[in-house]
Amino acid sequence: MDEFATLRHDVRAFIAEALPARVREKVRLGLEVSKEEMVDWQRRLAERGWLAPHWPEAWQGQGWSAARRAVLQEELVLAHAPETGGISIEMIGPILIHHGTPAQQQYFLPRILNQEHWWCQGYSEPNAGSDLASLTTRAERHTRADGSTFYRVNGSKIWTSYAQYADWIFCLVRTDTEARAQEGISFLLIDMRSPGVSVRPLIGIHGWQLFNQVFLDDVEVPVEMRVGEENAGWSIAKSLLEHERLNLSRVAENRRRLAKVRAIGNEVMEAGEPMRNRPWFAQRFHALEVRLETLAATVLRFRRLERQGGALGPETGMLKLLGSQLIQDIENLAVDALGPDTLAYDRMAHFEPADLEPGRSPYAAAASARRFVTRGYTIAGGTSEIQHELLAKQVLGL
Ligand SMILES: Cc1cc2nc3c(=O)[nH]c(=O)nc-3n(C[C@H](O)[C@H](O)[C@H](O)COP(=O)(O)OP(=O)(O)OC[C@H]3O[C@@H](n4cnc5c(N)ncnc54)[C@H](O)[C@@H]3O)c2cc1C
Repeated sequence: MDEFATLRHDVRAFIAEALPARVREKVRLGLEVSKEEMVDWQRRLAERGWLAPHWPEAWQGQGWSAARRAVLQEELVLAHAPETGGISIEMIGPILIHHGTPAQQQYFLPRILNQEHWWCQGYSEPNAGSDLASLTTRAERHTRADGSTFYRVNGSKIWTSYAQYADWIFCLVRTDTEARAQEGISFLLIDMRSPGVSVRPLIGIHGWQLFNQVFLDDVEVPVEMRVGEENAGWSIAKSLLEHERLNLSRVAENRRRLAKVRAIGNEVMEAGEPMRNRPWFAQRFHALEVRLETLAATVLRFRRLERQGGALGPETGMLKLLGSQLIQDIENLAVDALGPDTLAYDRMAHFEPADLEPGRSPYAAAASARRFVTRGYTIAGGTSEIQHELLAKQVLGL
């Protein structure tokens, strides 16, 4: 067996033993996974060394290559394991590893891995999304009588995913109002328990609390909690975008979701026959299969280039664009196939698999919610319109 085949075998064996059947079933059906279930699963992965194997050995990682990591992720996704780590493991962890002070690294990195600290990302503001550099949350530097220095932060952040669970937030704040937009921004780490931090839930159409608005009113942040130099926050935030660009295509996640639609096609009946035989369904389903395989082949092409040491250009931007549009069309087909059996707001999406209504497709409870959640995939991390603009300018030279 080659290196990757051995790894796939090991990951499958581990999942079979370590992933609780109830959690796996929840993920398979699209039901909501609780924070406790996430923490438990991430601890199991951390014990096996697989929560952040791409982190350097000095920080309990194993220095894995992107390709090896992708194999692990793919196996986890296809086996219906909960999505792990996003903001903590993929964003703030790497930022601290590359730009943090030794004290920040020693304090935060082990706590991220042992699940003591959950993080959220405070970039977007009510009037700063695609045009992030126009952010106005203000941080003013002050010195106390004892000589200690702190920033007083005022403003608000919005669309902050899972802030209700977070212990810390990393924020882009304006420290210089005179400088050019990108040059007056700093990167701060803020304890969510600090006086002046409050979280307002933003409940989605599906009844799920994915987002929040975070208000920062006279929050005092020690200057030691700044990452990088003052006013260098923009380049730190940008350095993140270069991490793991190929994974944005979500090939494995798309494959997993298409398998769900295949199951719906087999189980749900229309006009006396399985949905998979209905021409409208079959046509859309096969078109999605073709798009998925085309995307998978394109990702492989980039991976080969990466392995050969070639530079990955701005072309990789198309992978996020195509992968996020594909996942939306997959979820749209699931909803259309389930028809009136799936509702935008369905309390059962929070149920345990065993409590779902008998006689109803087990996918129905969460299908609409999943569709609305994936609607955000063409917005988060750079909207499709912005991706098109970048591709037009940087790749096609238009
Ligand atoms: C699922 C999800 C999770 C998120 N999580 C977080 C989080 O944890 N932390 C955080 O900080 N933010 C988060 N966001 C916010 C996200 O970063 C912003 O929604 C995104 O940057 C877009 O900004 P906006 O919503 O202000 O839209 P706007 O930038 O106002 O865009 C509105 C519309 O105008 C279009 N548009 C804007 N500018 C241009 C242009 N120059 N050319 C062409 N079209 C343009 C856009 O494409 C879009 O269709 C999340 C968003 C989603 C959907």
